[in-house]
Amino acid sequence: MNKYKVIVGMEVHVELKTLSKMFCGCRNDPFHAEKPNIHTCPVCLGLPGALPVANKSAIEWTIKLGLALGCKINRLSKFDRKHYFYPDLPKGYQISQYDLPFCYEGKVETTAGPVGITRVHLEEDTGKLIHSTVNGKNISMIDFNRSSVPLVEIVTEPEIFSSAQAKEYAKKLRQIVRYLDISDCDMEKGGMRLEANISLQKEGDTTLPNYKVELKNINSFRFLEKGIEYEIVRQKEILEKGKTPIQETRGYNAEKNITYSQRTKEDAADYRYFPDPDLPPINISDAWFSEIKKSNPESLDDLFLTWQKKYKVSRNLTELLFETSQEGQWLDNLFEKTEAQKLLVDKLVNQLVNKKLKVNLFNDEADKVVAEYKKTTTVDEVSDEELIPYIEKVLKSNNNAVSDYQAGKTQVMNFLVGMVMREVKKKIEFARLQALITKKISTK
Ligand SMILES: [Zn+2]
Repeated sequence: MNKYKVIVGMEVHVELKTLSKMFCGCRNDPFHAEKPNIHTCPVCLGLPGALPVANKSAIEWTIKLGLALGCKINRLSKFDRKHYFYPDLPKGYQISQYDLPFCYEGKVETTAGPVGITRVHLEEDTGKLIHSTVNGKNISMIDFNRSSVPLVEIVTEPEIFSSAQAKEYAKKLRQIVRYLDISDCDMEKGGMRLEANISLQKEGDTTLPNYKVELKNINSFRFLEKGIEYEIVRQKEILEKGKTPIQETRGYNAEKNITYSQRTKEDAADYRYFPDPDLPPINISDAWFSEIKKSNPESLDDLFLTWQKKYKVSRNLTELLFETSQEGQWLDNLFEKTEAQKLLVDKLVNQLVNKKLKVNLFNDEADKVVAEYKKTTTVDEVSDEELIPYIEKVLKSNNNAVSDYQAGKTQVMNFLVGMVMREVKKKIEFARLQALITKKISTK
């Protein structure tokens, strides 16, 4: 049996949450619209003669994201038409970016190594097809509320080498996008959509495989991981027979946990890209560029590092609390106030993660949260001298536990500390009692 290495490149689409759409003034709110086709106009319905105007915020947000991903920025950029025919695209082309994307050559760090970002470009979303049955007939309807919603595509190099790394990359990307507060990344509704190009490389080969399978429209991190794992097994079987897997697009069926063929790449479209003559090239002046740079918050990696150093709170733990930019500031303020009261931040985070405090995370005032936390940490003033007699009494009446402890069963310490606390009838720090008891036992 040959050994294979999986090679994955990813394409992720994210809908930006600007107020208006990408090329018209219609409201950008496809998820909350009361009815289909109410946020529409001649531009996003693709009517002949309608003229698009680019959304400035969407361009700024794309560049912000590019900067957060360590990308270089094309200061002269443009929009191109990508031609293909599909009912949800009434113009017959999608406005996208071809050879001059706003951002290129960035990277995202993962525990298994950096993943290169090839490009980050801006385009428009399509309408949404709704398949239904009316009077026994299968019909398809189109909702254009989503048509021309700003859509950012983030493309990686084929530098992801396991399903776990793909999942980590996608999660990290979502975290960064949410932190910048430019998209909700609601995966269930299609606000963030994952695609993975998967192929297997024979061990020892140095060139990329001569095929790739595109796993499309994945709407959960778990499905991404499972889909890639399924493809590894499926492609390996084909390669072991001396054949090459077909270059095609596949979907993932979560119920059966399999991937299935959607269309082969043989009939891949020639998109006939050309610059959109209705949209002038975008020149990002020095002044505009520095304004965008200034509006970017401290990088997420830096923020986590600062917290780790300053408050000794682990990144894994804070990441569990973390979602968007405002929350970053909210937490930063909370940590500062906690420390100002000489309380431990890492224990606070622990309690928040485990939902042990009766507070409304990210909405309550920091002072209120600190006060709630303080209640759980208050200890009564008791001197060591006062405690010793209680400890002696407990040790005396729990000889078995003491010998168990001496024999290495350290978990009985919890029991002993609990017994002493019960005797003292006061709140005393666990660690302090533990230290006193340990000392007492060792000098016995
Ligand atoms: Zn419109």
